[in-house]
Amino acid sequence: MGQIYFALVNPAITAIFAGVFLFLWRRWRHRSQLLILSAAFTMAALGFVFYDISPVQDELVNRIVSNASFLTAITLIAVAALVRAEVAVPKPWFATVLGLSALAFTWFQFVVDSVDARVVIMGLSFAALAMTVALLLQRQKPKSTADRMIIAAAWLGVITSLTRPILALVGVISPGDGASVQQSSYWLTIQAFSPIVTGTLALLFLAALSLDTLDAMSNAANSDYLSGLLNRRGFEGAVGKALENAAGKPALILVDIDDFKRINDTYGHKVGDQVIAGVARALSTHGGADFAARIGGEEFALFYADSDVAQLQQNTNAIRSALIRMGIPGIPREHIMTASFGIHCRRGDQGLSEMLSEADRALYRAKDLGKDRAELSTPHLRTVEGGTRSAG
Ligand code: GH3
Ligand code: MG
Ligand code: MG
Repeated sequence: MGQIYFALVNPAITAIFAGVFLFLWRRWRHRSQLLILSAAFTMAALGFVFYDISPVQDELVNRIVSNASFLTAITLIAVAALVRAEVAVPKPWFATVLGLSALAFTWFQFVVDSVDARVVIMGLSFAALAMTVALLLQRQKPKSTADRMIIAAAWLGVITSLTRPILALVGVISPGDGASVQQSSYWLTIQAFSPIVTGTLALLFLAALSLDTLDAMSNAANSDYLSGLLNRRGFEGAVGKALENAAGKPALILVDIDDFKRINDTYGHKVGDQVIAGVARALSTHGGADFAARIGGEEFALFYADSDVAQLQQNTNAIRSALIRMGIPGIPREHIMTASFGIHCRRGDQGLSEMLSEADRALYRAKDLGKDRAELSTPHLRTVEGGTRSAG
């Protein structure tokens, strides 16, 4: 009875997971690791059918099909882990591992018939693939809990892959101790543990998917769809943290596009949106800020964890020349895009809202003095920088 249960539970569990991953992939098609995992668990299910149920009379066929399926399944799981982390798959290395293990398996099947050797070969191949994944993911520096979970799973894979061949080698469990391999202690160990191992692997990937989805949602909640920069909420969160741990001299620049209403009125709202996106690109590329945000319609904020007035002025100049060069489809070349800047270096232990209102006062003054310039919040350091517009 126990035997029948074990024989059915492995193919059933893996087939269910294959279905779950396929279902999830249909929802999140851009997460192609889900499709790869579905294929992996399908291969594993096939492997278990040939391993546990022996559907054909020829034991050799069952053995070869099941081992090939397992090796494919493990390879696909390794690929899925790398794809999820956007790490390039080391194809030549994987091909080498698979080729060598197929060669060695064939040798110890047809030339020297050794169950122990075949068990060791499969274990070493699984371990090599899992270790490759673990090392590559570690090298990329884990960024989230999900990343760390997958790395832990890979190391767990290395250990479990090596345990069975080692136990078989030292003779604790032996593929040869029963009347047939199917009744051996080795076979029973695999049957008893594989639902746990497969289930754990699948659940880890599912947990990683949930965490990835939560991360994506929180990123979306903190960023601005049109400009790709942080939104006000994301900016407040990021700057709040940075100010708490500030070691240097934090600073803020507020940027407001000049006469933006006229751009909308003249060229249309869609073109206006393109201008906002273009200015955002210029700010990211030339602003040199730690955080850049769109905090209002055509108003942006740049935060620097450690900066000084000279550096900030250099940054605003770089932004201003980028705006002049910027070409937006739908806007004639001779239309020169400008913006006004309010610069504020933190005084004392000011919080973000105090810094924002000081930068805003400086920005207001820049507008007042004729736009297209940067103004400092500290009046005695005030510098006026105009000049892109000939008429002032
Ligand atoms: P100033 O030089 O003094 O800053 O004048 P301005 O015209 O740039 O500023 P004002 O505050 O008068 O107008 C801002 C305009 O920005 C009004 C609003 O319709 C437009 N706006 C706000 N958000 C968006 C947006 O997401 N897309 C587009 N196309 N326009 C926007
Ligand atoms: Mg404006
Ligand atoms: Mg404005």
